[in-house]
Amino acid sequence: MKIKRILVAGGAGFLGSYLCERLVSAGHDVICMDNFFTSQKLNVSQLMKCSNFELIRHDVTLPLFLEVDEIYNLACPAAPGHYQYNPIKTMKTSMLGAINMLGMAKRCRAKILQASTSEVYGDPDVHPQPESYRGSVNPVGMRACYDEGKRAAESLFMDYHRCHKLEIRIARIFNTYGPRMHPYDGRVVSNFIRQAITGEPITIFGDGDQTRSFCYRDDLVDGLIRLMENDKNFIGPVNIGNPDEFTIRELAEQIINQVNSKSEIVYRPLPDDDPKQRKPDITLANKTLNWEPKTSLSEGLKKTINWFKTIDMEHYRPPTPRY
Ligand code: NAD
Ligand code: UDP
Repeated sequence: MKIKRILVAGGAGFLGSYLCERLVSAGHDVICMDNFFTSQKLNVSQLMKCSNFELIRHDVTLPLFLEVDEIYNLACPAAPGHYQYNPIKTMKTSMLGAINMLGMAKRCRAKILQASTSEVYGDPDVHPQPESYRGSVNPVGMRACYDEGKRAAESLFMDYHRCHKLEIRIARIFNTYGPRMHPYDGRVVSNFIRQAITGEPITIFGDGDQTRSFCYRDDLVDGLIRLMENDKNFIGPVNIGNPDEFTIRELAEQIINQVNSKSEIVYRPLPDDDPKQRKPDITLANKTLNWEPKTSLSEGLKKTINWFKTIDMEHYRPPTPRY
């Protein structure tokens, strides 16, 4: 195997830290870059003893000069409460971050992967969502800083590919959960598990009939690595997610049952522009990457709940303002 120098921007986050772990254990020389806006050093502390792992505190909106063979760009707040905390910064992180990472890739002739999102489809009126669907995003809404930022980043990636022949990859990631989610990030899985364990009420926004399709972290990261490493030079965009679709009420019930929780369900107002339904069409990932998720929701929730039971929530910064 060829040992590669790999930069993971946003590498201390929920997904990034597990990606770093996978790349380090495959023997690569891994540089994790993060400004710790939504993550803790705790996520990568177990890697600090590895001689092929390095941690850099840096903001992706600023230029960075490194010599690398591959770049995974995951640097961006991902939870609605996190990305709406400072929406202008979120847009800068998506756009300037993409420009800085693409600039580095161009200089080093490195291969570069963008962690895009199902949010590029907005509140979709095509269901399930194939990559050919152009989306229904409100460009002036509360989610636009993230959705439009990620859309702009995809455009930048494609233009660097067309203008500079850069080897790019674009993954459209659908809702992913698992160990190391921030317990106060406000995302539905982390909220419900935390609430169920601590006995707080489970907060369903709206009537709970809206749907999401939840992918377990390990499956997702496996999809990202396959996309980066595929030898067909397949660039995407490609959906990576689990097509098993659940209503938010069904998710709440599964978590309450698994935790054996006494928490009651309470209903809260639905945030603006909250997508009514979401489910990836993964035909393309299946065909080109021979990828499909292997972990069922109940199995993935079990592992995630077990992890949540081991952590000290005091170690995590308090809830974001929205929640
Ligand atoms: P996360 O918040 O745990 O990770 C993001 C990481 O980026 C954090 O460590 C954060 O500190 C870092 N970061 C944020 N702004 C930065 C900046 N300006 N400079 C440097 N680092 C910065 O979220 P995650 O769920 O691990 O998401 C990782 C990536 O995957 C994000 O780009 C996100 O948009 C994308 N994604 C995730 C999901 C999901 O369901 N988890 C879905 C779609 C897309
Ligand atoms: N949600 C909820 N209760 C919560 C947090 C979220 O009902 O405590 C809902 C939210 O309104 C949305 C879905 O769960 O319909 C998924 O929310 P999340 O923030 O995890 O991700 P999104 O897919 O909306 O970006």
